[in-house]
Amino acid sequence: MPLDELHEECGIFAIHGSPDAAVNTALGLHALQHRGQEAAGIVTMTGDLYSVHFADGLVADNFTSQKVVKKLEGTSAIGHVRYSTAGKKTARNYQPIYAQLSCGFMALAHNGNLTNADTLRKRLINRGAIFQSTMDTEVIIHLIALSLKPTLTEKIIDATSQIEGAFSLVIIHEGKIIALRDPYGVRPLVLGKLGDAYVVASETCAFDIIGAKFERDIGHGEMILIDENGVKSLKPFPEKPSKFCIFEYVYFARPDSSIEGKNVYEMRKNIGIELAREIKIDADVIVPIPDSGVPAAIGYAMESKIPFELGIIRNHYVGRTFIEPTDKIRHFGVKLKHNANLSVIKDKRVILIDDSIVRGTTSKKIVQMIRDAGAKEVHMLIASPPTISPCFYGVDTPDKKDLIASSSSIEQIKNIIGADHLGYISIDGLYRAIAQTKRDNANPQYCDACFSDDYPIRLTDKEGAEAPLLDYMKK
Ligand code: SF4
Repeated sequence: MPLDELHEECGIFAIHGSPDAAVNTALGLHALQHRGQEAAGIVTMTGDLYSVHFADGLVADNFTSQKVVKKLEGTSAIGHVRYSTAGKKTARNYQPIYAQLSCGFMALAHNGNLTNADTLRKRLINRGAIFQSTMDTEVIIHLIALSLKPTLTEKIIDATSQIEGAFSLVIIHEGKIIALRDPYGVRPLVLGKLGDAYVVASETCAFDIIGAKFERDIGHGEMILIDENGVKSLKPFPEKPSKFCIFEYVYFARPDSSIEGKNVYEMRKNIGIELAREIKIDADVIVPIPDSGVPAAIGYAMESKIPFELGIIRNHYVGRTFIEPTDKIRHFGVKLKHNANLSVIKDKRVILIDDSIVRGTTSKKIVQMIRDAGAKEVHMLIASPPTISPCFYGVDTPDKKDLIASSSSIEQIKNIIGADHLGYISIDGLYRAIAQTKRDNANPQYCDACFSDDYPIRLTDKEGAEAPLLDYMKK
């Protein structure tokens, strides 16, 4: 992975009962673009008629032309933006994934990652299933297709009862929308209204762009059916403890989104306030590493009364060529994206604030860049605890061995990145910022496995454990 960053894997969107379903879906996906920039797809439907369009790259570049919008006919739609991790980068790995089943056409878009997909896939292949992609999501379509239950709703419940891991799903069939969230509620999913139309999205920022009104979060383990009669809610899964991804608040979600009743920007500012309470440093200026370090730096500055300055300016126009640098431009390194604002940095004792350190390579370059700009001291503070373990629930993380904090102490990391001081918020500090209470170590209120190594959902594929045997596989 060329960049020293974590990546959310996907964003999803659905709309029912809108004459402009395709345009609204394209706009919703554009607002969710931070959750995946590699490819996007939209499936529209009215009754049994459907249209599909997929493209590599950004939504704004590929889904806004009259030609594409005209092609995507229908009053209901689902859409997906993707950052490829579970499954390689191939055209066959586009989502929404679609198929003709015994009950007709169905398409499905998934945010999250299944932890028993490989186990199920092997079983399905042994049984004669032919897979078209390497995505974990395709397993769900096969399970639905093979279910012996009489209705599509029951088939979906049957299939999703067999999968493990994190899944927020939107499904389209006969112009109806089905949305569901795994019993632990790891990934977000929200319900809104646009006039008489219903909308579902990964985050509320997708509602704001089309003028939709936020109704509520879709519950953990809840399945909703949307048709011309409105919304019907089912609770088909056994109740599980809540394990929403705490990293959504730290980094992944857009700061203007509200998830699980909490505004993401406010949470990030709270993290900065807690960080300032835990780690006090005598300094002249607080400088965020943009963009995700900004709200925490504002919180830190508010609490510490040290001035906040934009001492690093981000270039927002770094395209894919630069994101995957060629040898010729690689030596420009971090400067392709970030540049020091000399007037703010020179002769100052600087506190840099970032959301996380993954491999440490970017942090090292940024510290050097700030020193080169004439800083007297460079202190680095991190708005999350050390990232010690990879995510198996829908976020692209390097292997454990490549996470610098899995094998190095904070003191060692400080020396590697060349800072005068390095500090992380504690896990209790993070919980205080977000949940206003410390972590319940017996049953943590969130998934925080990348900081604690405490995985709340079984990692069946990784452990080589037995996945549940499906009814139709027992024969
Ligand atoms: S492991 Fe980390 S990134 Fe993955 S779901 Fe848990 S908290 Fe979120």
